[in-house]
Amino acid sequence: MKERAWGTMAMRRMGQAALLAVSFALASCGGDIVPRGRVERASKAPRDARPAAPPPLELRQCMVKLQSQSVLFTPLPDQNFGGGCTAMGSVKLLDIGVPATNLGAMTCNLAANFAAWARYGVQPAARLILGAEIERIETFGTYNCRPIAGSGKLSEHAHSNAVDVSAFVLSDGRRITIEQGWNGDRQTRQFLEIVRASACKRFRTVLSPDYNVAHRDHFHFDMGGRGGFCR
Ligand SMILES: [Zn+2]
Repeated sequence: MKERAWGTMAMRRMGQAALLAVSFALASCGGDIVPRGRVERASKAPRDARPAAPPPLELRQCMVKLQSQSVLFTPLPDQNFGGGCTAMGSVKLLDIGVPATNLGAMTCNLAANFAAWARYGVQPAARLILGAEIERIETFGTYNCRPIAGSGKLSEHAHSNAVDVSAFVLSDGRRITIEQGWNGDRQTRQFLEIVRASACKRFRTVLSPDYNVAHRDHFHFDMGGRGGFCR
């Protein structure tokens, strides 16, 4: 809980730029930290009901899919970090065609959907609506061993099964943050709504500033739960 408390303080006290400047481990503490009393949607069964790792065939198929998308990645060894926190069937994305910051361990399915979203959802939307290329997608990170605040359940981040996207940097120098852009000008709002809609087709759970105040500054995407939760 110490980590979460520190993360919450950090979120309050540090500017986003400062937050992104610190190490990956700390940066991954950002994301969907929910203030006490607020509960992120419980998107999965209790931790002991969770399968240890995806079946080998499913994992192999996912990795073949990544390769077919010309995604560069490294498969990571299965890891059990204790306290129910794991990174099973995970990869580290090295090159998805659109640079993205702070990506640590991601389950293969999450990684494949993220790569496709960046390339086929975000990049075309930026060209069409904003008239610029996406130069960088900024995230608060992926793996983070912590519960959903206000709940005993572990976050999908504790299974390297979630990613928090915070901003988009464009080739013309603009930086669109979720926090400011969500209530920004019409064009920016249209872009963010389209990339969220694209995410909703790919990830099982998508949480945006429309969901609650804890998500005012990022999109949370995960591959947990039954799917179809998009808000
Ligand atoms: Zn999150």
